[in-house]
Amino acid sequence: MITSEDILNAGILIVDDKEANLSLLEEMLRGAGYRSITSTGDPRGVFELHRQHRYSLIILDLQMPGMDGFQVMEGLKAIETNNYLPVLVQTAQPAHKLRALKAGARDFVSKPFDLAEVLLRVHNMIEVRLLHQDAELRTKEAEAREQTLGVSLTKIGALNTEIRNFYHTLSHELKTPLTSAREFVSIVMDGLAGPVNETQCEYLGIAKESCDQMRLYINDLLDVTRLETGKMNIEFQTLPLAALVERVVEMLGPAVAAKGLSLSCECQPGLPAVPIDKQRILQVLTNLTTNAIKFTPAGGHIHLGLSKAPADPKYLLVTVRDTGRGIPADQLGVIFDRAYQVHHNAGSIESRNGLGLGLYICHELVTLHGGKILVESEIGKGSTFSILVPQQAMTRGSHVLIVDDDSAIREMFRLVLETQNFEVTTAGGGTEALQLMSQRAPDLVVLDLVMTGLDGPAILKEIRLNWGLLPVIVCTGYPDSDLMRQAMEFSPFTLLVKSCPPAKFVETVQRMCGPVHT
Ligand code: ADP
Repeated sequence: MITSEDILNAGILIVDDKEANLSLLEEMLRGAGYRSITSTGDPRGVFELHRQHRYSLIILDLQMPGMDGFQVMEGLKAIETNNYLPVLVQTAQPAHKLRALKAGARDFVSKPFDLAEVLLRVHNMIEVRLLHQDAELRTKEAEAREQTLGVSLTKIGALNTEIRNFYHTLSHELKTPLTSAREFVSIVMDGLAGPVNETQCEYLGIAKESCDQMRLYINDLLDVTRLETGKMNIEFQTLPLAALVERVVEMLGPAVAAKGLSLSCECQPGLPAVPIDKQRILQVLTNLTTNAIKFTPAGGHIHLGLSKAPADPKYLLVTVRDTGRGIPADQLGVIFDRAYQVHHNAGSIESRNGLGLGLYICHELVTLHGGKILVESEIGKGSTFSILVPQQAMTRGSHVLIVDDDSAIREMFRLVLETQNFEVTTAGGGTEALQLMSQRAPDLVVLDLVMTGLDGPAILKEIRLNWGLLPVIVCTGYPDSDLMRQAMEFSPFTLLVKSCPPAKFVETVQRMCGPVHT
């Protein structure tokens, strides 16, 4: 998993013949926390430096005496044989940007430098580079592990992690050219590449909107991978929910008016501030309200409400209600599933326009807040989405021991449970697990089945002998295997099949240990 520390420690080489540019860029990057920066004014020295240090990023000037940036890129291709040049070019000339991208540069920054733009592009490029290297390393590890174990079944588990990594890398990879495409469209629209007539401008506007839409899809894909690898970081602050509801009304007011809808909002006064991640709850409310706008025909009405939850004083209740087309009753139970889109007989354009990830992400984010999301709907009359947000911060809960030889899975389970305030210990194998348990028994054990050394059934046998009916979740990708049959001898236990969605995992742990609230 790539952390912010990994990104800040990545090796960066700045190549520019002008001393002032070198020091300005270096200062910007050091100010942002980057630690491993080398600068050179000599383009010919780049090859040897890169051969020795394999930089994660080379920020390259294009116009230099003796050897220009294009020639430097040609030379780098001989070193980076896998077709990936970690090069970000810096240029003041729009025409050079396209040529540089064609020559193999991954992205560009415009001169004069804008701090925010430079930092965004540097961060994005390093993250992509590290993700590539990480994915390569994991594939090699998985292959080596398979050889050692001689068990082809492990491939499936390893692949689950590798595919997730692939999506994460892919999503980041798509963002870079998309940003370029959008910028070039803007350059042409603004008349910088020559005069543009009204029709051309209108068509370019459509192209720009499509880029923005695609960026939203990519963000959804990134969120899904973050959620499913436990990397979604929820940063709680105690805040009034009313401010967020009002913000959504303000932000989406123009879209409501443009579609000929009306909008109302009612927030019960005097409600307490609640522990939430502001950006993530805003994302949920924006998503639900955008859906309400999308699926309500002109003349309809949308209402946002905030109050105490009538049925449970532990929660505040936010509702997003619309008078739109509604959702068929038989599909209400699956509407929050990953990639689910409602099947209407007519198959309208709106429902085909999306990835079906929005409600899934909302559900996962609300669950990570210890809350719930519900839907009621009637065909032709409208839908109401309700979010229950806990009023109290969660307290430290039961102690869960996770036993799995796959470090990525251990880490993912640990992160999702810690976000829910469970206390988590992990072990990479049976001997370590039993040793930890003898020092301090957990309230629940999450157990993998296929492991080298002591396997799942052997550990389960020890648990039953020494800790009686201690609750156990067996989490395996091979529910039909012989190991599973052996494990059954030491039941009871709860079975989860890998890779189960994190929200289901959390719900199962909560069901067995109790949710963590004051
Ligand atoms: P997408 O991102 O593709 O819009 P969502 O997960 O947000 O997907 O929504 C899934 C499906 O649920 C949509 O395709 C739509 O058919 C249905 N849906 C969501 N919100 C509403 C609503 N307010 N009214 C009617 N249908 C809705």
